[in-house]
Amino acid sequence: MSRAWTLVCRACRADLSVALTEIEIDADPVQVVKGRDMLPRGCMWRARAGFAEFEIAANEILCCSGDLPTAVLGGSTGCCGPDGLDGPNLRCVCGAAFATAFGDCWQPHVVSVSPKRVVCAPATPEVSVHVYPPDSSHPSAWAFAAWLHEVLGTDDWYGLELELLVQAWAGRAPTPVVIVWLDTPRERAAGVPVQELIAAIGRLAGAPISVVTPISDGSSYARQAE
Ligand SMILES: [Zn+2]
Repeated sequence: MSRAWTLVCRACRADLSVALTEIEIDADPVQVVKGRDMLPRGCMWRARAGFAEFEIAANEILCCSGDLPTAVLGGSTGCCGPDGLDGPNLRCVCGAAFATAFGDCWQPHVVSVSPKRVVCAPATPEVSVHVYPPDSSHPSAWAFAAWLHEVLGTDDWYGLELELLVQAWAGRAPTPVVIVWLDTPRERAAGVPVQELIAAIGRLAGAPISVVTPISDGSSYARQAE
């Protein structure tokens, strides 16, 4: 069951965010790609200790700038966007600086919200998050396919015909879904067609599925293993 929150200004009690579904896993559910959002829209994640990007402190609340509709940007330099290197650069309409936006062309894009400046008010989730944990005992492509069918609530069985599965699901346009793989190399080694699914989704512009593969290379795997 996903939990969701609206970020509220601690100073004036104004809403600062849309409803954000919290991603709660013991891994880094972020994609570190310059020029792209680190997290899926409609989601938030509390940075865990050891998360290294931008020297963001543990328990800072990370989200996308597009999910903070009233935030006022100011006091930041950058090339094509705010680089966040000068400290907090997003303010509430009341003037309280509550977050730092990192959004320059050479950076992955993310906003780091100070938990000291906001209150998390319960909200109704508008995005559902599903985590696919690695199963070391018997991982298989078929187990993965069964899981995916269950997540997407399909009536028909498409097996490993993932493109058909995604098409059938996108046609129903339900709640946006975020799918998180925890250990992409291991899944791939077990025969799970992770890349094929991502490619199938990518060909369906507008389909409300986001895929996050946080453990995608040796360095981040090593970081998770610490
Ligand atoms: Zn305020």
